[in-house]
Amino acid sequence: MTHTFAPPPEHPRLDASDPGLLSAVSSGQARLTPEQGLELMRGATLLSLGRWADARCRALHGPIIRTYIIDRNINYTNVCTARCTFCAFRRDGDEADAYTLEHEQIHEKIAELVEIGGTQILMQGGMNPDLPLDWYLDLLSSIKARFPQVHVHAFSPPELIEFVNFFDPPGPTLEEKIRWVMVRLQSAGLDSVPGGGGEIFADPVRRRIGLGKCDAEAWLTTMYVAHTLGMFTSATMMFGHIEGYADRVHHMKLVRDWQDRILKEAGATERRSDEATKGRGDRATEGMGHYVSFIAWPFQRENTPLGRVKDWGAQVEDTGAFPGDVVATLAGDGDPRAHADFGRRVRMSGSTDYLRTQALSRLFLDNIYSIGASWVTMGPHIGQVALKFGANDMGSVMMEENVVSSAGTTYCLDEPVLCRLIRESGFVPAQRDNVYDLLRVHDGAESPDLRVSDWSKHRTKRLHIERAAEPIEAALTVSAK
Ligand code: SF4
Repeated sequence: MTHTFAPPPEHPRLDASDPGLLSAVSSGQARLTPEQGLELMRGATLLSLGRWADARCRALHGPIIRTYIIDRNINYTNVCTARCTFCAFRRDGDEADAYTLEHEQIHEKIAELVEIGGTQILMQGGMNPDLPLDWYLDLLSSIKARFPQVHVHAFSPPELIEFVNFFDPPGPTLEEKIRWVMVRLQSAGLDSVPGGGGEIFADPVRRRIGLGKCDAEAWLTTMYVAHTLGMFTSATMMFGHIEGYADRVHHMKLVRDWQDRILKEAGATERRSDEATKGRGDRATEGMGHYVSFIAWPFQRENTPLGRVKDWGAQVEDTGAFPGDVVATLAGDGDPRAHADFGRRVRMSGSTDYLRTQALSRLFLDNIYSIGASWVTMGPHIGQVALKFGANDMGSVMMEENVVSSAGTTYCLDEPVLCRLIRESGFVPAQRDNVYDLLRVHDGAESPDLRVSDWSKHRTKRLHIERAAEPIEAALTVSAK
């Protein structure tokens, strides 16, 4: 069942720190303007941002349960025509460690996932010009034939745009061409589209760091087509490099605007009733948009060309405002010539900047149901803190993580550890599915973490390290996608 959608009203004359405004935002009765979002990003104290984001999170998700999913990242190829400067994963097709997984190898990985109770695969790769459409259609239909219960969350917008370029489908517009490809992928078994490749939408930033990758309009149009076909998707943002704070707000604004658009056209979908939580009064039953979740994470620099760019402030001549802030505008149309060092300096994001950005996303994205904590990049303990800064979800148990590990950061957690982190943060852990319906609420003695009697002996295992013969699969982003 769907409901008519009307966004909450904006109050542009109010100061962003006005407690009445923030209280109304946290209860879903008011919407932040971009100017107010930027003011909060720049000026609000860390703890006040966290407090209001937590209030909004509790209004949407209740005070008791925080979730995770058991899925598996499968990076089917690292061959890619693009040359994103933040990427440590891509290879040219003739490089020694270029790879494309066989369908059977992918099936084996899914079988291992099913063995541990996993429900979803997150399958993404580079933009590989050697793979024909049939390779993808056969892969999807063979997965569905063998693992009908597994949700296939696959092919981020940049990949789908390249499918259009590689396969030259019929249609007068990009939207129609994407639809032609996506309809075929969907009928072969594609269930939903991950939000990878969002990075930063502002054109000056995107053109500098995403060489050969689609622009924001194409990315958002791809997701719009997925939404019109009834798919749910996520949206992502990778920040903490050359962008300004206004670029982050602009990015969130575009996601919010396009979510408004599809909500106005198609209405909000009512959440399925949830047997596991019936009568607990814990979970909100608000309608859900087609961008179901938003996940933001900081750029990881190791082994990337962008990572070699000097930090802002490292040179004596680095004085005044950060170049990205000089160029950035809330319309995303800044002039890169506004600062000679734009793109030549990075401002890396630490824990507090990450928490501030995540908290702002919870407050600003009033029409998005879930905010994910990025523990894969930030570490499990910041992930715990993130649950008090607006995040309701800890993302995925990591059977293997290749993406971020290419850029130097590796954290690998299994289900008991993830449950323990959530419980130690003051919540009851629950396994969810792709649309955030609860599969198992772990409030009894049989919970995965409560079954562990000796944590000193509990070790998380990484499947891809245990199997030395496997190719090194790197990855584009985190489970976020
Ligand atoms: S981030 Fe993705 S699109 Fe960009 S170079 Fe890496 S694999 Fe290719």
